[in-house]
Amino acid sequence: MAEDGKKSNQDSEYEDVCYICRRPESVAGKMIRIPNDICICNDCMQKTFDSVDKMGGPFGGMPYMDMFQMGQSPQSEIPKRQKIKKKKEEKGKKKAEKPEGIFDIAHLPAPHVIKGTLDEYVVGQDHAKKVMSVAVYNHYKRVLTDNGEEDGVEIEKSNMLMIGPTGSGKTYLVKTLAKILQVPLAITDATSLTEAGYIGDDVESVLSKLLASADNDVERAEHGIIFIDEIDKIAKKRNTHSRDVSGESVQQGMLKLLEGSDVEVPVGASSKNAMVPMTTVNTRNILFVCGGAFPELEKTIKNRLTKQSSIGFASTLKDAFDGDANILEKVVTEDLREFGMIPEFLGRLPVIFTLQAMTEDMLVRVLTQPKNAIIKQYQKLLAMDEVDLRFDEEAVRAIAERAVEKKTGARALRAIIEEFMLDIMYEIPKDDLIGRVTITKDYIEKKGSPLIEMRESGEAKLLTQRETVSDGDASQV
Ligand code: ADP
Repeated sequence: MAEDGKKSNQDSEYEDVCYICRRPESVAGKMIRIPNDICICNDCMQKTFDSVDKMGGPFGGMPYMDMFQMGQSPQSEIPKRQKIKKKKEEKGKKKAEKPEGIFDIAHLPAPHVIKGTLDEYVVGQDHAKKVMSVAVYNHYKRVLTDNGEEDGVEIEKSNMLMIGPTGSGKTYLVKTLAKILQVPLAITDATSLTEAGYIGDDVESVLSKLLASADNDVERAEHGIIFIDEIDKIAKKRNTHSRDVSGESVQQGMLKLLEGSDVEVPVGASSKNAMVPMTTVNTRNILFVCGGAFPELEKTIKNRLTKQSSIGFASTLKDAFDGDANILEKVVTEDLREFGMIPEFLGRLPVIFTLQAMTEDMLVRVLTQPKNAIIKQYQKLLAMDEVDLRFDEEAVRAIAERAVEKKTGARALRAIIEEFMLDIMYEIPKDDLIGRVTITKDYIEKKGSPLIEMRESGEAKLLTQRETVSDGDASQV
């Protein structure tokens, strides 16, 4: 056939080209000639007949229209079909990836397994991790067994209230938990919520967020987790004579969500309006976790404890609880009510627990131990440049000390590390000969430089730079 093509090439200067697919005769094969000097290749002619057949015979439709809809080449149609097929496959894949496993009681991880995985990421907070693992396990058991509809034993919802200072890992715990269970998670801030009709987000907006994180799949969203941070900010305002639209009213508004009800939720927006489509989400199986620092709550607990024990023989001195670092653990709902949370709201959060403030030792561990510890992340980044990044033990402790001073728990760590790693991340990739960088305590305290070792010979050459790395002068790193 190629020979034929060559021949026709030789006969005339130009090669015939198919009117539909534009392939030359040497590629598409012998052409069929129709009036007006139009050539059509065998493939396209066959397709034209096929399409006419499909339309119910030669007079059943508009064959020429179809001819052009087939595309400019028969080849272009093949990828199209493949594309459709592939899409279908992807759809199937997505379904398989759906966290169906978790909603099957046989695959629900036992509490110790959940805690074990949390241990890999979250440092300390043992009590919180244990309580959460059990609560989550019970919650999903309840979801999976249709909430006792068969035997009448109704398992109560395990919504949680976590009390702990900033940077103690409240958000991080919930995030990790949602990742382990592969359920959608929405994180929201109670301070942005107001009573419906006032400036701010309606309480229902938290459901829109959850729906969005579940890719608008209502069924998935209904098994998700909603974390509401800064819940202490919606405590009842004391001594106020105006309407408390961002405090008590928000608590009131949240009651029906926490309890479980059908809620009309805007899809793809956080507020309702005529232009946004709505869908109904049932919150019965959504796990709500509220978190807050509850400042000054210790005082309330102390007052209660001293009051309780100030009568009779067992009376204690007024300042007996002053030195107690774990005073927060002794919290009861009465203290929270005193703080400004309404009883109905607390009643719907049956699992209450506290988190410890991060100590220096804990911060040292946060830096080094978790699976995705921040130091490990930097080591991985530099390993890509074949540089071995090390931190002196004293340097890690110095970072932790600085973080404790900032009083924002583990949150301070990243900011501190990023500050002094900037020069290193900028300078090290410049020099291919650098094989190892060791961060020293002096470098953290801005009294010295990191140790740089060159990769040249087997015996590493140690270059200690004397000058302090000053801001803006990164050349000394
Ligand atoms: P908050 O208690 O204020 O919600 P976060 O959970 O947001 O604190 O913590 C901020 C960051 O600090 C997290 O992203 C995480 O990287 C780190 N972090 C906090 N607590 C821990 C912890 N116990 N273990 C490991 N990392 C933690």
